[in-house]
Amino acid sequence: MESGIASPRVAGIALALSRETLTMSFAELRLRAATTTPLACKICERPSALYGVVDLNRPCDLGLKPSLSGVPIYYRRSDECGFLFTDAFDDWGISEFKARIYNDEYIFYDPEYKDKRPSANVQAITNLWSAHRRA
Ligand SMILES: [Zn+2]
Repeated sequence: MESGIASPRVAGIALALSRETLTMSFAELRLRAATTTPLACKICERPSALYGVVDLNRPCDLGLKPSLSGVPIYYRRSDECGFLFTDAFDDWGISEFKARIYNDEYIFYDPEYKDKRPSANVQAITNLWSAHRRA
């Protein structure tokens, strides 16, 4: 999925969970349980069936392999637009994402998070709008 703008890694596959989190139950983590009922795609709103499952601790970059958490995160894929998503984290607020994903350990799993990707996004947006820039 190369669009010029790096996709956010909020979807739950780039986790840097603290050791404390690893001992929490599915309910304590406030994760939505998966169902076999198709859900509306978050982009096109077409029904999206279950597509696959990964462990909660699976990072995007498989160079690092943290211990498995035993917590499954189910993903869905829209047949219409191809968007891959989960609703597992849909009940989380910003504070939960900061504590459980984008915490102090996150940079080890996603070293481009702080500088390289934001800079690339700025460049992509600048290029996208440069044709509309007034002289
Ligand atoms: Zn869709």
